[in-house]
Amino acid sequence: MFDAHLHLRDARILPYHARFVKEALEAGVTACIDCASRPEEWNVEVRCALRVVTGFGLHPWHVATACPDWQEFLACALRADPGAVVGEVGLDGIRRTFDGGAAQRAALEAQLALAARLGRPVVLHGARAWGALLHALEPWAARLPALLLHGVSFSPDLLSHPILRRANVWFGVGGALLSPGAQTLPRLAAAIPLGRLVVETDSPDLFPIGGEPLVLGQYHALLNSPANLPLVLRALARLRQMSFEELAGQTAANAEAFLAAR
Ligand SMILES: [Zn+2]
Repeated sequence: MFDAHLHLRDARILPYHARFVKEALEAGVTACIDCASRPEEWNVEVRCALRVVTGFGLHPWHVATACPDWQEFLACALRADPGAVVGEVGLDGIRRTFDGGAAQRAALEAQLALAARLGRPVVLHGARAWGALLHALEPWAARLPALLLHGVSFSPDLLSHPILRRANVWFGVGGALLSPGAQTLPRLAAAIPLGRLVVETDSPDLFPIGGEPLVLGQYHALLNSPANLPLVLRALARLRQMSFEELAGQTAANAEAFLAAR
């Protein structure tokens, strides 16, 4: 199984990596895209038994607190790892900012330009800002090798948007699918073309309903782990009337296709 979006360098789980990775492997997760989402994470080395493809990017939540020279730092991190992708980057409508999102848009623009220059696939965050994100992507979509919209949660009607109909766009469905009240996401997850669908946990965030918590040291919070990926796959397989194994294989192949597009 391929977890297409998580955060291995998150400070909350770094001291407990061995257990985090062991439980992922025991659950059958063998590969992941690990998004290092702020400058403090860009020079943290991760070596483990999982196949880890790194994303380097400034997450919209961290734009306001990033060091002034983050763009140079980011370009260095990406050049040092030719297999890395750009992400997660994007626009966010959950945490409102006083500037109406201007700083987020500028940071996104700079990172899309860098991804185009380096020819790297991009992992995108667009929570509650999908329309604005698609608008920002318009000048760039044709110049970027591949786009992965992670944690998708928009109306299935938006799938007909010209950018989302492009052959080099993939969609990440996560644990929000397990929420009993979820209505839009199940319809969207059923409508995404099979060849463009990937699955993700966004660990250690977004602990899913019914998941196994990773209760670590002083952090007695419910932290999510890639060991919960089979729950997402099981729900999605039921929804799409496919076998678990077939869907696990197809979504893993899709994640590899996204990474190979460059
Ligand atoms: Zn994330």
